[in-house]
Amino acid sequence: MWIFASKEQRDRRLALLKCLPCPHCKHTGALNRHGFLKGYDELNFKQKAIRAIRVFCSDRANAGGCGRTFSVWIADKVKRLFLDTDSLWQFLEQAATTGSKSQAFRDLQSSLSDSAPYRIWKRFLQAQAAIRTALTAIGPPPKHVHQDGVPSPAQSAAQGTIAHLKAAFQDSSSNPIAAFQNATQRFFI
Ligand SMILES: [Zn+2]
Repeated sequence: MWIFASKEQRDRRLALLKCLPCPHCKHTGALNRHGFLKGYDELNFKQKAIRAIRVFCSDRANAGGCGRTFSVWIADKVKRLFLDTDSLWQFLEQAATTGSKSQAFRDLQSSLSDSAPYRIWKRFLQAQAAIRTALTAIGPPPKHVHQDGVPSPAQSAAQGTIAHLKAAFQDSSSNPIAAFQNATQRFFI
């Protein structure tokens, strides 16, 4: 899988596909575009839209590839998630800060059902260990302090992860989740 920061970066790279090594077998010269991954998301909830581009490493005569496929994403999307990363970040940051998942979700004005915030929050909690491990490779977690400078022992694990994300990607122009996906080449949740 490849995750790019923007559509422009993705398209520039895809134009050079024939010169790039396959992420599976490392063979160069066998990659071809191979259709799309389609699905529903926030902007396209009435009909399926393109979510990712598929690439095939050709094992046909003389191509020398491995015959496997992989997908090419833009960092604003998360696999199997209806929300884009802007909405996901807004929801998680607000839910971790206020403790109210339902209110944080209402503020998104999403077309998803009322149970969605709990499913998404659960996915986030289950991914936290992996997120923190990946973040630690980028930078140390910030010191836990309140605005008055007093350390906060009551900070939850979720708040700690959110604070760590913010600190790791404070210089990024995209939201911290998109920046995480682009930097680590893995989905956030
Ligand atoms: Zn290959």
